[in-house]
Amino acid sequence: VRAGVWREIGELVCEEVPEPELGPGEVMVDVALCGFCGSDFHMIEGRFPGGGPPRVIGHEVAGVVSAVDPGVRGFEVGERVACNLFGYCGACPWCLAGQPNHCRRKSFSASGFAERATYRPEQLFKLPDELGFEPAAFLEPAAACLHAVDLAALEPGETVAVLGGGALGQLLVQLARRAGAASVFLADPDPGKRELALAHGADRVFGAGDPELTEAARGAGPRGGVDVVFEATGSLAAAAAAPPLLASRGRLLLVATYPRGEALPLDASLVFERELAVRGVQAHGRTFPRTLALLPLLELEPLVSAVLPLAEIGRVLDLHAGGASVKIMVDPGVVERPGSVR
Ligand SMILES: [Zn+2]
Ligand SMILES: [Zn+2]
Repeated sequence: VRAGVWREIGELVCEEVPEPELGPGEVMVDVALCGFCGSDFHMIEGRFPGGGPPRVIGHEVAGVVSAVDPGVRGFEVGERVACNLFGYCGACPWCLAGQPNHCRRKSFSASGFAERATYRPEQLFKLPDELGFEPAAFLEPAAACLHAVDLAALEPGETVAVLGGGALGQLLVQLARRAGAASVFLADPDPGKRELALAHGADRVFGAGDPELTEAARGAGPRGGVDVVFEATGSLAAAAAAPPLLASRGRLLLVATYPRGEALPLDASLVFERELAVRGVQAHGRTFPRTLALLPLLELEPLVSAVLPLAEIGRVLDLHAGGASVKIMVDPGVVERPGSVR
């Protein structure tokens, strides 16, 4: 099969790789679309802990079941699905506690920039007929963002600032709005991303590090700051600038991926005086089913900046370097996509 192979640091190419094998208890999925995640770029640039190149990457998959091991019940060839990259053991203390993202025996299925990929059935979520593959390919990142909203314990009527207008930031704006936030601000250096946020749920938008954001946050509500900041840039400097935006009892959620071993310089006296909470957001918790129910209510097609044919996957690095793209997807060309947006 053809696949997008991370060849070496900074290089992603389309190559012929061995056909994935359908193991016992597995389901084969023909990939309709696979989205690029911020973590994919971190990985290609060699800034992510874990295995190195060469290997096939990609995990934000929507597609069609093309083969089912006879031992698997509940899935049939031809069913449309979206995928969770993580497989959970179901038996460790974290799985039993309903927090499978911390599973001690977590497995990964992250070779989605390919014509086909295999999954365990519990990693697959069936798509309603009316949901297109473009929105469906947002299931995984949207599930991560919904987990962030859960961890923030965001209550209706609270106020929110989102740092970063990439796909996570845009999803957080829309989810915060849906969760009943009274006002939602977004900061990003790119005017196109600010426009997008403004068109799809943000009340006000600001440049990165704009002092007007601090002012707006202070005036956001009666408490003198916003209740929740979602940090979705992956920049430690951006995260460090969050405490002054927050009201007392405010929560700072770290939603992106961050460089390993580097310190986050927070104003400890502000954290102390205002009883701020700083919280990491690791993957999805149990948010996939609820996210699937929310996908039709979100405005996701506008977030798709480009759909590349698999053969041209290498172009993604240039597109990403431009800083203006939100979500880039790859279409391996093996599944027909009616109603394709591009
Ligand atoms: Zn992702
Ligand atoms: Zn487990």
